[in-house]
Amino acid sequence: MKKCDEGYFCYSCKQYVENISESDLYLRALLGEIRIEELPSLPERHIRCHPELAQFIMHQTFLPIPCSGPFSKHNLDSGYVSEMEKKVTTAWVKLQNLAQQGENGVEAVISEMNSAFIQVSQTTKDSIG
Ligand SMILES: [Zn+2]
Repeated sequence: MKKCDEGYFCYSCKQYVENISESDLYLRALLGEIRIEELPSLPERHIRCHPELAQFIMHQTFLPIPCSGPFSKHNLDSGYVSEMEKKVTTAWVKLQNLAQQGENGVEAVISEMNSAFIQVSQTTKDSIG
């Protein structure tokens, strides 16, 4: 969660985002979609309020989220869909585990983002040098 006394409200449904376990931002952080310096400036959202991503979570404890429109997985390549299901579900399970650790879990996500950022920097450097 972003550090803010007012708490973290979903910009989509306006409800409170209780925990990183339901945070779209933190899920995308684990997927490597968000860079650490972007985190404070991005709006918070529930995972379930982001159907384009949530539709890929295939887990017995996660109520399936339907997604309609051009980004529905029914309209996407099946190879891409199965790859995304694997990737997003893995990240989601990891997020659920980290969420149970409270602040330590948040720190773990942050440090993962840091190391991902370092890896990316390193790769960029290698390809230049
Ligand atoms: Zn929401």
